[in-house]
Amino acid sequence: MADQQSRQPERYAGIPRERIAWYPTIDPERCRPGECQLNCIAACPQHVYERAQDGRVMVARPYDCTVGDISCSFQCPFEAISFPSQGELRRMLKKLREELSS
Ligand code: SF4
Repeated sequence: MADQQSRQPERYAGIPRERIAWYPTIDPERCRPGECQLNCIAACPQHVYERAQDGRVMVARPYDCTVGDISCSFQCPFEAISFPSQGELRRMLKKLREELSS
């Protein structure tokens, strides 16, 4: 059984992880959990995704997502998963570093 305890460090590059808005977003118009193999759940070692009781798949643990990693998005056959761009991430980290050093 998968390790449900797997978690990301509390800080990324010295920044508290929960201040970094890096995590996947699922487009509900595209997501079709009844027609895929739930690849997102299977592919994520951090257990970021979870299936709700009503059958929808949700981002249950966003801050356990590995910063900068978009590999799960390629597993979705319906292109329902998106992330901030690398440029957005870079700007976000720069701004947070500036805030923390002031
Ligand atoms: S996000 Fe993609 S892989 Fe995950 S349940 Fe939805 S359709 Fe399936």
